[in-house]
Amino acid sequence: MGEKIRLEMSDWLYNAGLVGLYNILENAGDYVESKGQSIEFDTDLFENFEEKYFNYFIDKYEKTLSWYKIVSYEEVIRQHENNDLQSFQEKDLEALNTYLKNVVKKYLNSASYKSAYDLINSELDIIRKVKVLDSINLKKQEIIEDKLPDIKATFEKLKIIIKFCNEEKSKKYLAAKNVIYSIIKNAWNGICFLNPKTEEKDLYIDYKEYFIKPAIKYIENNKSKFKYNCFTCDKPISNLKNDLCFLNNFGFDVGKKSSHVWNFANDVAVCPLCKLVYSCVPAGFTYTYDKGIYINDNSTFENSKRINNKIRMEILQETEFNSLLTYKSLINAINEQSNETIKYELADIQIIKLKDNKYSFNILSRPMLSIIHRSKDDLNKIITGGFLEIKTYFNIYELVIDRVLNNQNLFTLIHKLLIFKLSKSKDCKFSISQVVKVMIINLRIMEGMGYMQKTEKDIIKSANASGYYLREEYKGKGSKDKLNGIAYRLLNALKTCNNNMFMDTVLNCYLYVQKTVPSIFLEALRDEEQYKTIGYAFVSGLIEGKDDGKKNGGEQNDK
Ligand SMILES: [Zn+2]
Repeated sequence: MGEKIRLEMSDWLYNAGLVGLYNILENAGDYVESKGQSIEFDTDLFENFEEKYFNYFIDKYEKTLSWYKIVSYEEVIRQHENNDLQSFQEKDLEALNTYLKNVVKKYLNSASYKSAYDLINSELDIIRKVKVLDSINLKKQEIIEDKLPDIKATFEKLKIIIKFCNEEKSKKYLAAKNVIYSIIKNAWNGICFLNPKTEEKDLYIDYKEYFIKPAIKYIENNKSKFKYNCFTCDKPISNLKNDLCFLNNFGFDVGKKSSHVWNFANDVAVCPLCKLVYSCVPAGFTYTYDKGIYINDNSTFENSKRINNKIRMEILQETEFNSLLTYKSLINAINEQSNETIKYELADIQIIKLKDNKYSFNILSRPMLSIIHRSKDDLNKIITGGFLEIKTYFNIYELVIDRVLNNQNLFTLIHKLLIFKLSKSKDCKFSISQVVKVMIINLRIMEGMGYMQKTEKDIIKSANASGYYLREEYKGKGSKDKLNGIAYRLLNALKTCNNNMFMDTVLNCYLYVQKTVPSIFLEALRDEEQYKTIGYAFVSGLIEGKDDGKKNGGEQNDK
C-alpha cells in the first residue's frame, strides 16, 4: 500500500464514476490531485473507503432521507415543550398524527429498517416502542386541553425513539439503508448489498469485501501473466468475471442487439479497480427521486467535476425536490462553466438524464453553448413566461431549452405563442416582449449554427417597430379591429412559407394607410430564415405594439 494510482477519464459512465470517486474522497477530507483528464491519489485512501462511500450519500442527501423525516420532528417537540404546549392547536395534533402514521409507523416498521436493527444491536426494542404509539383523537365535546397529558406522554415516547435513531450507530445503518434504495439503486443493482440474497448482512462490510478488497488486491498483483484486458482501461486482467451487468440499463440494451460487434453481456469484462469506480457512478450523478442528471464535459477532469458539483448544489438547495423538472439549474451551471472556460475554449458537453429508469442523451455543441451563454439575460427575462394549454401550464423557458437541447430552432414555438396571444389571450401568462426575447435567442441559434447569414442590422427590433407603427396608423384611422384578421393571415403565410401571400398582405396594409413599405421587407427577401425572422417580429409588433411588457402580460402578474 501507499503507492500512487492514476485514473484516466474514459466514456461518460466511467467519468461519472470517476467524479463520484473524487467526490467521495473529497467529502472525507482526502486529497486527490486532478491533472488534465485524470486524477491521482494515494491508494492508502481506500482504507475505510466503505465508510467514506456511505457518508458521502448520507451527507449530500441527508434532508431527503426518511431517517431525517423521523429525527427532524425533534425540533417540533422542543418548540412545543418550550412553552409547555400552551400554543398546541388542533392543526398541530393533526400534524402529530400524520407524523405517527406516515413517518414513524411507516418507516420504522418497514423491512429495510427492520433489517438494520440487527446491525445496530441496541438494547432498545424499537419495534415495541413503535407499537405502543397511538394516534390521539378528539372525541365529541373534547378540546385540545383534555388531551395535553396524552400528547405529552406521546412526546416522551417519541423522544426515546428519536434519540435511538440519532445515535451514531443507528444513523450509520438506517441512513445507509435509505441511500441504498433512494440513491445508489438508481445507478446499479443486483449485486453486493443490492443483491437480496447477499450473505453479508452488514452493508459496509459487504461493500468492502465486494468492491474494495478485490481492487486493492488487483493493484498489488503482478499482472504480467494476465491473458485478458479490461474493457474500460485496457489493463491486463486474469479472468472475465467482472462484467458490467450490474449497471442499470447499460449491458442490457446493447446486449439485446445481436448485430453488435461484440456480445456485450459475455465479452465485456473489467478490472476490479474499474468496477470500484463504476460503483461510484451514483456519487457523480445528482438525483431527485428517480430522476438523475450528469454532465459529461470531457475537456478536463476539473471541468467535469465543477459543472456537476454546481448542478448538485443548485438542485439540492431547492426546497422543493422536483427541480430536475426544470432546466434552470442546468443552464445556470452551464453558464457558470462558460464563464470559467470561455477564455480558454468551450468543449462540447453531453447531458445524460435518467428518467423512468432510462438514460437519455443530448449533446450541447460548442456553438450552442456559446449561444446559451450569450443569451443569459434574454433567458432570465423569459423565466416567468408561460401559458395554459388543456389545463396544463407550460413554461416558455423550459420549452426553449428543450428545443435547444434537441438542436431545434424556435420558429414553431414563436408561431404558437403569437397564435395564442391572438386567440386565447387570457391563457397567456407572457408578454409580447418576452416573445421578442425568444425571437432574439432564435436569431442567435439560426446565425450561430450557420443556418443564416449574420446580419448587421437589428432586424428583429426594426421589424417589430414597423409592426408597431403600422398598428398606430390603423388606430388613427379607427380600423384597429382589422388588425387581428391581418395578423392571422400573416401568421398563416409564415407557417406555410407563402412569401407571396405575406408580401401581398403587407403591401395592401401600407396602401391602406398610404405609407411606403419599410425597407426592412427588402431584407426579408434575402433568405427563408431571414424572411421568417422578420415576419414574426413584424407580426409581434402588430399584435401588441412594442414595449408592452410593463402593462400587459407575464413579467409581473404571474408570480
Ligand atoms: Zn480497468
